Amino acid sequence: MKGAVGFGVFSVGGDAPRVGFRIGNGVLDLAAAGLGAVFDAGSLNPFLALGRAMWEETVSRIHEVVGAGSDVVPLDSVTSQLPFEVGDYVDFYSSLEHATNLGRLFRPGSEPLLPNWRHLPVGYHGRAGTVVVSGTPVVRPCGQVKGPADDAPRFGPSRRLDIELELGFVVGVASRLGEPVPPSAFRDHVFGVVLVNDWSARDIQAWEYQPLGPFLGKSFATSIGAWVTPLALLEQRFVPTPAQDPEPLPYLRAEGDRALDVEREVELSGTVVSRTNARGLYWTMPQQLAHATVNGASIRTGDLFASGTISGAEPGSEGSLIELTWNGERPVRLADGSQRTFLEDGDEVVLRGRAGDVELAEVRGTIASARYDGNAPAR
Ligand code: MN
Repeated sequence: MKGAVGFGVFSVGGDAPRVGFRIGNGVLDLAAAGLGAVFDAGSLNPFLALGRAMWEETVSRIHEVVGAGSDVVPLDSVTSQLPFEVGDYVDFYSSLEHATNLGRLFRPGSEPLLPNWRHLPVGYHGRAGTVVVSGTPVVRPCGQVKGPADDAPRFGPSRRLDIELELGFVVGVASRLGEPVPPSAFRDHVFGVVLVNDWSARDIQAWEYQPLGPFLGKSFATSIGAWVTPLALLEQRFVPTPAQDPEPLPYLRAEGDRALDVEREVELSGTVVSRTNARGLYWTMPQQLAHATVNGASIRTGDLFASGTISGAEPGSEGSLIELTWNGERPVRLADGSQRTFLEDGDEVVLRGRAGDVELAEVRGTIASARYDGNAPAR
């Protein structure tokens, strides 16, 4: 289906939001096109819960309806909403290159990868309630920070606001408490993928993260694309996985496990500053889900799992500014001649992704200035 992007929620004027399917610069109103009352809803969740057979049947019916010349609503006349109600949100750390770079930057002089990294997909639970749709402004967070040379922490707006280029997957079918989801069952539970920007305040993160991991340095906002691309549209883009050494434990092994070939780019205020590909991720999405459930934790419709920052091995393929600028030591130059280490107020970030002829929905966000009066906590 040429130009197919995925499923989302849109509204026109003051009308109630509805589920649509984006094709190029148009949106097919799925309930109006006769695809089912489940689409006369303000979120994708009821459809997500229906399962793989219905997802695949719906994609082929959309193909027929579009082929028959059904009307679409112009994309520039709709307002995109958050496409699904986010259940739980988990963020992994699955790029070997990113984990190595961050280890060098955050713990100089010691082994960059911690001993567990090659044995399990490291992750943390993020904040589902602050996942926002592409286009939502991101207010610069305030917080407590303390540099290595400071005697005491200070409170104020983050000065090291960063991006993280990620790829997320969206759970459709729930699992039962106590029953792990093995890699082989991934496709029965997971509906599709969405691009993710895991905004990160590096100065807040660096002071707070030990020993329990990311908290306020991440939880202020996470942006996702407005249209979820179903795995059914990506069949041709699954590729062999990178080698894993040592071999993972049996619960993380899957016959025929595949990575997803998605070309990515980061545009910062009009200049592309990074290009990479999600296929190089060390841990695959089925392994991420298997690990997250191996203790019996159940998953729910609308759960979002993100990959972690996707960085390649080449200069210019890093998925965050802290890596691209090597902790601010090597600023990136923008087309207008200005330089950036971390994000400035007014900067606009656009993350893009392409899987063969399928363009994934971009994630766009602009930085708004901190709500801070100079001495008191923000209010
Ligand atoms: Mn992240």
